[in-house]
Amino acid sequence: MWKRLFGRRDETETPAPPPPDAPGGDTRRQKPASDPAMQGRLDALRRRRDMAAYDLERSEAARRPDNAWRERMDLLDQSLATIKADLRALESEARSGSFPLPETPVTSINVNPREPVSVEFTISAEHFRWEEEVDWDQRGGPVVRGLLRQRTGRAAALVPAETPPGLRDALARHLEASTSVFAHDLRDRVINGEPLPQEVTLADLARPCPECGGWRDWRGHCDACAARAFRRQTLQGEATRIAEERDAEEEDRYKWAERLPVARKRLADAESEIAQIEQR
Ligand SMILES: [Zn+2]
Repeated sequence: MWKRLFGRRDETETPAPPPPDAPGGDTRRQKPASDPAMQGRLDALRRRRDMAAYDLERSEAARRPDNAWRERMDLLDQSLATIKADLRALESEARSGSFPLPETPVTSINVNPREPVSVEFTISAEHFRWEEEVDWDQRGGPVVRGLLRQRTGRAAALVPAETPPGLRDALARHLEASTSVFAHDLRDRVINGEPLPQEVTLADLARPCPECGGWRDWRGHCDACAARAFRRQTLQGEATRIAEERDAEEEDRYKWAERLPVARKRLADAESEIAQIEQR
């Protein structure tokens, strides 16, 4: 992504050297060798000189305060600052402010393990029922355990009357998910020959999450925390990638800056050899 934004690293501001045999170039370059036997050598030297001139230009650019590497690093620094601000915002996000639910017993728990598998339970006056959807593969055998499809039960009816208006929808959504998690757990326990849980209450389906102020489901999982953890991980991954890219830019700039004396010497050597052949 960053590569696409800023262009490839090897496309710095210095243009590629012109082809050595390009017409209309420096007339000095076109001058033939005085000794025709030396023409091949002269052409090779001229190509080497062009390469050295290109290297020298790049090395000089790498030592100037304003350079293409610096520009790209500045952009990467800006991106990094944005990500760090996003991370800080993520950690200081407003907490929703949950509260414990009443210990209303979950009654009439019943799991029918025969096809079609069904799960039922009652909380207060609300009766919940799920049925397994049986899928069949092409050979006629049942496929892996299907999802349970809810037939009855409104989780919103379990939201206590005294719940603050701002939390009612969130709590209803949470209870909808948590009753479903509970139903699947009951089904799995019966199929695996494990005992059913005892003395379950509505409170067990919505324990306040101490980390984010939301609610945890029957299995102790908090959706809000999981979503935040995922977002945090994504941002941190992006920050790491950008920091690495930035380091690579500086490494490349440093490499070219350090090459200056060598590039200078190579250019001078090529030019002096060319002069010798031309003067013969
Ligand atoms: Zn949480």
